Amino acid sequence: MEDEAEPKKENGLYDPMAVRWSEKYSDTFNKLWSYVPSSFKNVVVTLAVFLVGISLNGNWINIFIHLRKQLGYTNDIKSSITFSFDNFIYTYFKGFTVFFVFSLIVSYCIYLFVGGFLHWYYYVRQRDKAEEWKIQPTKFLSPELERHEILLGSFTLFLNATTSALLACYISNGGYSTVYYNFSEYGWLWYILQWPVVFIYMDYVTYWLHRMYHLPCLYKRFHKLHHKYKQPTAFSVTAIHPFEALHIQLTLVVPLFAFPVHWMTFYLIAIYNYYHGIIDHSGINFKSYWWQPWQPDAIFHDNHHQYFHVNFSFNIEYWDKLHGTYRKKDRVYTEEIFYGTGKSIKEVSAEELKADLEERKSENPLAFRGDKSYYELSEKDLNKFNKQF
Ligand SMILES: [Zn+2]
Ligand SMILES: [Zn+2]
Repeated sequence: MEDEAEPKKENGLYDPMAVRWSEKYSDTFNKLWSYVPSSFKNVVVTLAVFLVGISLNGNWINIFIHLRKQLGYTNDIKSSITFSFDNFIYTYFKGFTVFFVFSLIVSYCIYLFVGGFLHWYYYVRQRDKAEEWKIQPTKFLSPELERHEILLGSFTLFLNATTSALLACYISNGGYSTVYYNFSEYGWLWYILQWPVVFIYMDYVTYWLHRMYHLPCLYKRFHKLHHKYKQPTAFSVTAIHPFEALHIQLTLVVPLFAFPVHWMTFYLIAIYNYYHGIIDHSGINFKSYWWQPWQPDAIFHDNHHQYFHVNFSFNIEYWDKLHGTYRKKDRVYTEEIFYGTGKSIKEVSAEELKADLEERKSENPLAFRGDKSYYELSEKDLNKFNKQF
């Protein structure tokens, strides 16, 4: 019921929340797009992903205030103020309304309009050639689920952008943090070392948080919402339960208060994470580059949405290999099989095997390295497991 081959027009109207507007204006977009020089087209698309990446949880406002500080504009507070709750709020959250309004307006505009452009670029413009670019080419989210992910994503964006505005306002008013601005302040060795430290901290913590939210009790209560989308799109990235979204955001900003970190290191890594968050949910057969040996291809997280309790990592697939939760060819994974290790193919019923083989068939071989599915089961493989199909 969730999968539909064709987008539906309801009563002749396009649903604006389900990015149908980008379908409505597709001809105009096509015309405008033809004016963009072809050597520039990839840059425009990459820039669009990048922009959505910095807007997804309002990060752009923090980047803005740190850049301002780096350039020498400070409004640090006199340290002589007597401490009281009222003083604290008045001092550190002065001017919050401006941060709040700007954070929301810019984040929403980028999320909806640049996100809408990306939706048009792949899902509208190239819809009839899905087998060339889509990881699950025969399956699309229904308009109802597209609407659901944008509404949920918008609500989560409201909370995350508000938290980012609070953080930006606090830091801008001279609030305590361990962020620094002079590159050599803690020595060049620490400047270089902090890159892997922050990257690994963020990625390993999100692996465990993600895995924790896949425990039956937390999954059913919170994370299942994000797994409504078996064919994720770029809009699925922030379509998660608000409680989970805030929990993740607050955990990720810990380095800003725990150890000296240059603001550029922190936010460039944050941008990298969100950039890949979009790529990994896009449903498009993106591959990682040679200079990212740690980075899985987009199908890795797409598989997580298709098979649920497996492949919990984001930017370093090694965590799954280390902890035995990396998808294996001879295991079957469904929403009912928890804990990340699936079920041996020898143990599944004929119906379970049939459903699993159907799922495997819907994966595009072009999304794998060498254009061949690593998980395809031949008759010979099945005989090995004493299974027939
Ligand atoms: Zn998940
Ligand atoms: Zn996801």
